[in-house]
Amino acid sequence: MAVANGGNTRSDAKFDIDGATGTLMAYAELGRELGERTLLVDGEPFDIAGSRLQGWHVLSPRHGVAVHIGAYNFPAWGWAEKAATALLAGMPVLTKPATATSLLSWHTVKLVVEANILPPGALGLLCGSAGDLLDHLEWQDVVAFTGSSDTARSIRGRERLLDQAVRVNVEADSLNAALLLPGASDSAFDAYIRDVHRDMTQKTGQKCTAIRRVIVPDSDVPRVREALSERLSRVCVGNPASDGVDMGPVATAAQRTSVREGVQKLLAQVRVAWGDPDKVEPVGAPEGKGFFVPPLLLEADDALAATSVHAQEVFGPVATLLPYTGSAAGAASVVRAGEGGLVCSVYGDERRLLGELIALLAPWHGRLVVVDGKVADKSIAPGSVLPNLVHGGPGRAGGGEELGGPRGMALYQQRTAVQGNGPLIGRLIGAS
Ligand code: NAP
Repeated sequence: MAVANGGNTRSDAKFDIDGATGTLMAYAELGRELGERTLLVDGEPFDIAGSRLQGWHVLSPRHGVAVHIGAYNFPAWGWAEKAATALLAGMPVLTKPATATSLLSWHTVKLVVEANILPPGALGLLCGSAGDLLDHLEWQDVVAFTGSSDTARSIRGRERLLDQAVRVNVEADSLNAALLLPGASDSAFDAYIRDVHRDMTQKTGQKCTAIRRVIVPDSDVPRVREALSERLSRVCVGNPASDGVDMGPVATAAQRTSVREGVQKLLAQVRVAWGDPDKVEPVGAPEGKGFFVPPLLLEADDALAATSVHAQEVFGPVATLLPYTGSAAGAASVVRAGEGGLVCSVYGDERRLLGELIALLAPWHGRLVVVDGKVADKSIAPGSVLPNLVHGGPGRAGGGEELGGPRGMALYQQRTAVQGNGPLIGRLIGAS
């Protein structure tokens, strides 16, 4: 279904669907650890005035509905990762996937409903437009949105949601950077090329976490360009159902138009390093069928002057090579030009630099992937979101936070301080 409806290769489809089942499984395991309780204790008690007077914190489920709005690129993982946390936190879910690829969402939700593992009504699916759904929400409800910054802005500013102080979590777009450090070991360098290539081509670049900015020391630009070009020249674009095809089309005609327009905007400031934006010859695709775009590596001479690269998300197999010189601060200033991201990956072995960069980049990102030579062969590409680590990011990325094991449940819970007779309260809330 993902191949036919979303243009996914089998491997891209597995990334979405295995991501969904893997996340549900991780939260099911967490559910087993939490047991039957409905109040969760948050942290240790706080002594207010010596003796017995203490304050505790508890987390309880909000008494509304969790409304989930998803993007078209992850029709399975998109609803499952949100539903996993909300259901475990104790809220029923109404999920609205993006219309273009909702067939797979419908099918995967149906499998869960038919498995009869949830109370009736705990998981609802709405395919098609959201209509005026958001205008009926109340203050105990929660909205978790994934999609473009433009849609996020209109949802955030919705009068009803503002009036009712409905919690809104936003996962939006992000110009994720992969940063190569000077003097990286061969294994860190190879992992860099491997990950950039994977993120550019996996799901035809339609991943919110895909690497868009390839930031490398000045002196390494030629060898990075050469290594990526060599890899990209081997990518077979074509019918995702055919054997040997590495990259399928983007999902919709509108998406192809958006990729083409985005590339033209970037090309006003950068040049093509590898590929041809106007040429794609899909293998095994019937004439006129499939919304194909070619992989494309762009390049700028002056990383900070190429402002559109730090502002314009091209949601396809496109990335831009950006040089930097000098210190960790110099490299960080190029990364930070993206004004907030879901993930940034750093490849190198110089420990002092790595330490400086973690501190410099953390406030700008929801996740950092640090790849030194010792973990290079095992590390997971930054585009993969893991259920036990937080997903989301500040600024452009929407300012939201999801997943992260039990942390993700907080969106659906009320945190309440309970003060009084500390030992008694501890017993009442199940802390002891
Ligand atoms: P989109 O056009 O913003 O749509 C996202 C969702 O919002 C869809 O379900 C859409 O429904 C719905 N929607 C549109 N207008 C709405 C409104 N007025 N009220 C309520 N819902 C509304 O985004 P997309 O094209 O599907 O997805 C691509 C974007 O998502 C990219 O920018 C990508 O970076 C981002 N993304 C972010 C993450 C993340 O985790 N941060 C993950 C994946 C994708 P319809 O389809 O029915 O219009």
